[in-house]
Amino acid sequence: MKKNDQISALILAGGRGSRMGHVDKGLQPFRGTTMVQHVLERLAPQVGSIAINANQNLDAYAAFGMPVWPDETTGFAGPLAGLEAGLRHCATPWLVTAPCDSPFVPLDLAARLFEALQSQGADIALAVTQEAGMRKQPHPVFCLVKTSLLPVLSQYLLEGGRKMDGWYADLKVAEVLFEDSDAFRNINTLDELHSLDTARAPRLKDVVSCLSDYDPDALPVRHAQKIIGDFITPIRSVEKVALRSALDRVLAADIISPINVPAHDNSAMDGYALRGADLQADGPTTLKVISTVFAGRPNDAAPAAGECVRIMTGGVMPAGCDSVIPQEHVAAISDTEITIDAGAIRTGDNRRFAGEDLKAGSPALRKGKIIRPADLGLLASLGIAEVPVQRRLRVAFFSTGDELRSIGEPLDAGCVYDSNRYTLYGMLTRLGCDIIDMGIVRDDPQALEDALRNACENADAIVTSGGVSVGAADYTREIMAKLGDVTFWKIGMRPGRPLAFGKINSNGNSAFLFGLPGNPVAVMVSFYFFARNALLTMMGAEAPLPLLRVKSSGAIRKKSGRTEYQRGILSVDANGQQQVAITGSQGSGILRSMSEANCMVVLHDEMGNVNAGDMVDVMLFEGLV
Ligand code: AMP
Ligand code: MG
Repeated sequence: MKKNDQISALILAGGRGSRMGHVDKGLQPFRGTTMVQHVLERLAPQVGSIAINANQNLDAYAAFGMPVWPDETTGFAGPLAGLEAGLRHCATPWLVTAPCDSPFVPLDLAARLFEALQSQGADIALAVTQEAGMRKQPHPVFCLVKTSLLPVLSQYLLEGGRKMDGWYADLKVAEVLFEDSDAFRNINTLDELHSLDTARAPRLKDVVSCLSDYDPDALPVRHAQKIIGDFITPIRSVEKVALRSALDRVLAADIISPINVPAHDNSAMDGYALRGADLQADGPTTLKVISTVFAGRPNDAAPAAGECVRIMTGGVMPAGCDSVIPQEHVAAISDTEITIDAGAIRTGDNRRFAGEDLKAGSPALRKGKIIRPADLGLLASLGIAEVPVQRRLRVAFFSTGDELRSIGEPLDAGCVYDSNRYTLYGMLTRLGCDIIDMGIVRDDPQALEDALRNACENADAIVTSGGVSVGAADYTREIMAKLGDVTFWKIGMRPGRPLAFGKINSNGNSAFLFGLPGNPVAVMVSFYFFARNALLTMMGAEAPLPLLRVKSSGAIRKKSGRTEYQRGILSVDANGQQQVAITGSQGSGILRSMSEANCMVVLHDEMGNVNAGDMVDVMLFEGLV
């Protein structure tokens, strides 16, 4: 990108860092230097000069060798006050801004904003991003502004305006769509900072050192699960989506109810609202009907003693009434009166209280929940139109092996069709990931390295199948180890002993790696019991795998000292009790038995043979992901 000397850059570092525990965001260490230094380095090739807007630690900022301009509008008025200071001091016709906590700011920010501003004759140009199927997201702190607009901004601030996207309402704005929304990610909390800071990220050897009897060649399932869980870090990129699009996504923040649900005391039945004090304990009660209340049409009827109001389900309870008698329980009804037998209802019956479902100010849904249909309904009942969700996890996957053929190719002697590509596609899709299907990669060092680097540069996680055992022509292990912090395990389990796990790096990007075994059943088992939870953690989701306990209908042979996953069929016996039976052959290549099964029977390490009638753990396939 060509440097444009007509543009100055302003780094916005004037906040109080309140969400970072009042530390100065720009001065936080990040990947070997400070946050602001990353922004400086990325802006320097783009513009003629750079200045920093800061309101505290001015000396520390001055040490970067750039001018430091504090706000002139007092009281930490937010980024606009910083922009105002920038426009006032700026010596060039244009000023581009970026926040100090955006270490990934695009290298073509100034050039692209400038090009759009010029070609559209606009006053201000700003970056927007848009993820597939989502609304456009403007980033007004990444903008290019004509310096001559200072008076417009000052006036807006003077009138108390503080909204970053409020001040240019009457100006001509050019929006510039940038592909990579992560480039605009700003880092708001110390947690986030640390999780992105690879220099601080744990190494696998530190994680495994927590286990006293760690042996990579005989690793119990639960140890492997623990190491993976300790090593994985969640992605922290949030987007707002329209309510319907939130289905199956992971909620990124607690949702606090803005209202009482229901908003008013109301009737749970079609019937008559009355005052419980009027009910006779020892004989019939006759009440005069003075009005009718329909749902959604409250009226001001206020029955006196001896009176009642006809009411429909959902109708607002009339003043003074505390109970509703359903109309089918009324002994006698005329146009003007009803008669109720003694004991037909009790005071308080069939009255729903305001806030009974949810009180205003209380949490309706917790961060980390995967949004299901009931949650959509709940959010709708609160009048919430947009929902903060985690961005989708990007997962690249490929199959390795010279013997693999793709569907549509002839099946040469000794070859098999690549089925793992399709089971992985299915499992990852159901988990809600954005998938990058890379097909088959040959057992060739260069092809494997290229594929892994490509995957690493484009995805958050990589899932491969095949090549992680010690087969002669498998280069997968060698290349994986070359690209990062990867460990190879022999896990005490059947099927699926070999597993590679770790994190690889390529050109400044990193991705978690799951090298699953090649056998089609082993792939699924290792995915469900190792990768699934880890990927959910990366997505910020809380969705532990549920195991049910049911009776085994037959005996099962089991070797103690390892975990066995057997394909099972859960059914109901003659007495209506759940039972599970093992499907026929359990060979790790036999996908048919996996397809026939509706669950996996999980036989834990310490267990030996199972007798008919013993209870065992099962994991259902349906409802799993
Ligand atoms: P590997 O782990 O590469 O030694 O593979 C173990 C077994 O799984 C071999 O019999 C492979 O042919 C088979 N296999 C590996 N990858 C696939 C795949 N993508 N689809 C079907 N079978 C596979
Ligand atoms: Mg292979």
